[in-house]
Amino acid sequence: MNSPAAVRTLPDWDAPFPEALGHAWIHGETRVFGGAPIVSINPATGAMLGGFDEGGAQAVDAAVTAARSAFLGDWGRISAADRAALLLGWAARIAEEVEQLAWLETLEVGRPTADAKALISQGPLLIGHYASMIPALEDRADGAVRRPRGVVGAITPWNFPTANVLIRAGPILAAGNTLVLKPSELSPRSAVLLAQLASEAGLPPGVFNVVPGSGQKTGAALAAHPGVDMIAFTGSTRTGQAIIQASASRSLKPLMMECGGKSPQFVLPDMIDQPEIWPGVFAAAFWNTGQWCAARTRLLVPKGGVEAAVEGLRAAAADWPIGDPRDPATRLGPLASRNQYEVVQRFREIALQTGRVVPLSDVPGDLRDDGFYAAPELVLDAPQDGALVQQEIFGPLLTVQEYGDADEAIRLADDSPYGLGATIWGADRDAAERIAAGLCVGSLDVIVTPAARPGLALGTPFEPRKQSGFGIEGGLAGLAAFTAPQAITYVG
Ligand code: NAD
Repeated sequence: MNSPAAVRTLPDWDAPFPEALGHAWIHGETRVFGGAPIVSINPATGAMLGGFDEGGAQAVDAAVTAARSAFLGDWGRISAADRAALLLGWAARIAEEVEQLAWLETLEVGRPTADAKALISQGPLLIGHYASMIPALEDRADGAVRRPRGVVGAITPWNFPTANVLIRAGPILAAGNTLVLKPSELSPRSAVLLAQLASEAGLPPGVFNVVPGSGQKTGAALAAHPGVDMIAFTGSTRTGQAIIQASASRSLKPLMMECGGKSPQFVLPDMIDQPEIWPGVFAAAFWNTGQWCAARTRLLVPKGGVEAAVEGLRAAAADWPIGDPRDPATRLGPLASRNQYEVVQRFREIALQTGRVVPLSDVPGDLRDDGFYAAPELVLDAPQDGALVQQEIFGPLLTVQEYGDADEAIRLADDSPYGLGATIWGADRDAAERIAAGLCVGSLDVIVTPAARPGLALGTPFEPRKQSGFGIEGGLAGLAAFTAPQAITYVG
């Protein structure tokens, strides 16, 4: 843990908490529905931050009505150029409020403030990217006209509160839809602030509505609502399955499902002795304390490579201090909630029973302190068919397995219910191509020089596979996914 001396100069946990941001934002104004309160806990201290009211079915109804009237009104009639200009205005407001958004993430889910700022700063680029593609939607080369789907419901998780919302809201709004968003009950406030910023930037009332609340009540009501034309979900596979069922209970609507992952990273024989790879391998597994859908949490090394991995990752861990998320030196904050801490510790117990747990620093893996802290660890010798290799953990545990040849590497990696991403560390492009072709995953990074790191690949679409979901994300295809082609035939 970082030293408490550094902590004394940090922003005040007890500064007034923005309670109002927990209320629903509907038709460009705050609405209070007075449902059962949901308590927010600071994951870095375990202290209560405040609470907000469950919006529930009533809030969802009001938001869907507002979104429909905006779709049939101003937003539905606006020109493509004006829509793009409004979105760019929104992006500019987000850029001005990065500090406040990052602080909300630190308070609600323990994101290290510095890392939160770095990621949120890329949000305006993402919105600009989708705004820039709006004219391409007008292309009628195939004879069809692309129409927005109407009112889109989005349900998002807590791991990157702002980015998760922008990744959804960007293409949904750029495609001309209106939005009803149900953010995670752990992190509603940055979502409400983003919608308020959209209103300030001139997006008409009802275009971007937010209904904070639980998944069981508010989320389920949104998924089932017959007035919602499409659902875009980001979250766990199990919740995705519940949403698919609920969505079909009273209507038939298209779905986009971006769900869990258990992504592998391979070190090919030509890179196992390159020390420069290990900081990148560490980051890919442990960024955000492992709470990342595409975290590369299964490391596959050539036979005899485990020792190099342990040594390299222990050295890399020294550059990732665990501690108070307000401290600019901190790179690993607490897990986002008590529940997430308990989930991770259950997996750790299984790891201790079925494999060999190797700490990466002097900080113990079940470190609790007064917040929900856990430290990065490796799990060696975990059985391929066991929970550690097969199930998503969403915490700082990385399995390490050895493979004999490329066929075995592919077989081990692909023996997974998930198919989100993968990373290959290797200069041999033929070997990398062969592995890529053998893997059922949506996106892949091939790192061909040891010190290189993947960046933001905005323009390239991908689709998750297997139980990681379905629906195209990114690029023009990801934007077009929120439209429907309409065929108009002129006869005579
Ligand atoms: P979660 O599935 O518990 O919750 C996600 C959202 O669904 C929340 O808003 C929650 O309130 C809501 N929800 C829960 N039950 C619901 C129900 N019955 N009906 C409707 N809505 C319901 O996931 P989480 O714990 O918030 O986030 C972690 C998960 O998200 C991980 O599995 C992670 O892999 C996944 N994730 C995926 C991506 C991606 O792009 N593929 C990105 C980030 C996170």
